[in-house]
Amino acid sequence: MLGLMQDWPLTVDRILDHSKNWHPRREVVTRSVEGPIVRTTYAEIHGRAKRVSNVLKGWDVKVGDRVATLAWNTGRHIEAWYGIMGIGAVCHTLNPRLFPEQLIYIINHAEDRIIFVDLTFVPLLEAILPHCPTVERVVVMTDAVTMPATKLPKADCYEALLEGASEDCVWGGFDEQTACGLCYTSGTTGNPKGVLYSHRSNFIHTLLGMQSTVLGPSPKEVILPVVPMFHANAWGIAFAGPASGAKLVMPGARMDGAAIYELIETEGVTFSAAVPTVWQLLLAHLREHNLKIPTVKRVLIGGSAVPESLIRAFNDEFDVEVLQGWGMTETSPIGTLSTLTPELLALPYDEQMKWRIKQGVPPLGVELKLKNYAGQEMPHDGSTYGRLMVRGPTIAGAYFKDEGGDILDHEGFFDTGDVSTIDEHGFMQITDRAKDVIKSGGEWISSIEIENIAVGHPKVELAAVIGAAHPKWDERPVLVIKLKPGETQDKQEHLDFLVGKIAKWWMPDDVVFVDDIPLGATGKIDKKLLRERLKDYRLPAAANTPERV
Ligand code: ADP
Repeated sequence: MLGLMQDWPLTVDRILDHSKNWHPRREVVTRSVEGPIVRTTYAEIHGRAKRVSNVLKGWDVKVGDRVATLAWNTGRHIEAWYGIMGIGAVCHTLNPRLFPEQLIYIINHAEDRIIFVDLTFVPLLEAILPHCPTVERVVVMTDAVTMPATKLPKADCYEALLEGASEDCVWGGFDEQTACGLCYTSGTTGNPKGVLYSHRSNFIHTLLGMQSTVLGPSPKEVILPVVPMFHANAWGIAFAGPASGAKLVMPGARMDGAAIYELIETEGVTFSAAVPTVWQLLLAHLREHNLKIPTVKRVLIGGSAVPESLIRAFNDEFDVEVLQGWGMTETSPIGTLSTLTPELLALPYDEQMKWRIKQGVPPLGVELKLKNYAGQEMPHDGSTYGRLMVRGPTIAGAYFKDEGGDILDHEGFFDTGDVSTIDEHGFMQITDRAKDVIKSGGEWISSIEIENIAVGHPKVELAAVIGAAHPKWDERPVLVIKLKPGETQDKQEHLDFLVGKIAKWWMPDDVVFVDDIPLGATGKIDKKLLRERLKDYRLPAAANTPERV
């Protein structure tokens, strides 16, 4: 027997309709790409998003057509985003930090028809567009005064187009399974692959994100999404923010410590989300200028593991709660959150750290399991490693154009490519990407765990651990360090810093100092490139590797 409730397609245009109807005056504040702070409201954003839809309809953009954005987090980006999705077209967020060849590949693979571009990226687009035959038009997201003289063929000025368009446009009316967003994973292995979100998956992800253990947004919050909209939908904030009626503060092109601090201070930011590297920059700025951020209650940190030193800095020095999130483009991206349970909160603060550094538990709607390579399920005992598998309505079932073939196991779980443990409290901890794990004497060493401790040394700016070939043990860990400016090299002090914090047989065989540790397009350490740069490195012959104890 079927239920008798209404059929109300879960399409994301309803999110912005809701913000306009019930939170019309709540602000969206942007540090514009042109420079000045721009203030607008959900009601205005809604009207302008409808104008975007009419512009696109005027160019015969239809349900399923791909329309790309190459843009920072701004109010205009939100307008374009909803304007595209509202008429059933697919908003393809391009990551400008990718190499030009990768962008060309992605644009061609997606067959983007139109690209909305920020002023910053006009030169980049001028260079790559001749190689992108499917692109018919470009919209430069600025006004007539700052519209650049550009070589781009068929380039229109965003504000001029909106001025000439009507706000009268009916959104929705298509199936909730219709595609609405496209985001390519950065392709650390092989070509980038497209994750094609549906209206339904993003709507459900919004509800999932609104749980208090997740983003928990409300009209009282002032949210600063530093994580870009091109990085897995700003971790859902571009939907959950408007859905909850929270004020949004959009950082535009500037993500340095001073710029972020200024927005926090002037707009009264209560909650923000970014990768660890952004927070390190902010903390450095706060410490250098002896500043505090009293309005900020919580920060969400994810994208790569959060070192204990970062958690303690926020908690102890700035009285800010750190919420760690794990996820990936393929999981929309929310996968787990490190919200402590009452039992764990009852522990002494130092003991809580063991869980605070873990990636946490999944919210309702995400299923997790651990499997070994033979496909057997692994126990949740906190020490057995396994491949982390996920299932749910917000998890990818296939890649765009079926790249990579069948990506699910026989029970419909997706293999994340991460290796992790799950403990008796249900807390998942990533030990490595499967391709980065160090295999030493038949056992696995977690590069992430060593890195997170090593980066806590006061002289270290960035730390990475990679495996180096070893005649007896197969691979041994090597600690690669980028020192803070002006610090001097002393291998032993970094090894001594690890003593007692990791198993003896995990102790790196060597320390290598480098001027630069490469970061990938989403701000994470690019281990593939780092390994490539250190390909001629050999372990010192005298390396004294302790036997496993
Ligand atoms: P990519 O950087 O590969 O394009 P994503 O941005 O989707 O893709 O990154 C997903 C990966 O980032 C995860 O599979 C995991 O390895 C890593 N990751 C994300 N959050 C965390 C976290 N909190 N701790 C450790 N690793 C994380």
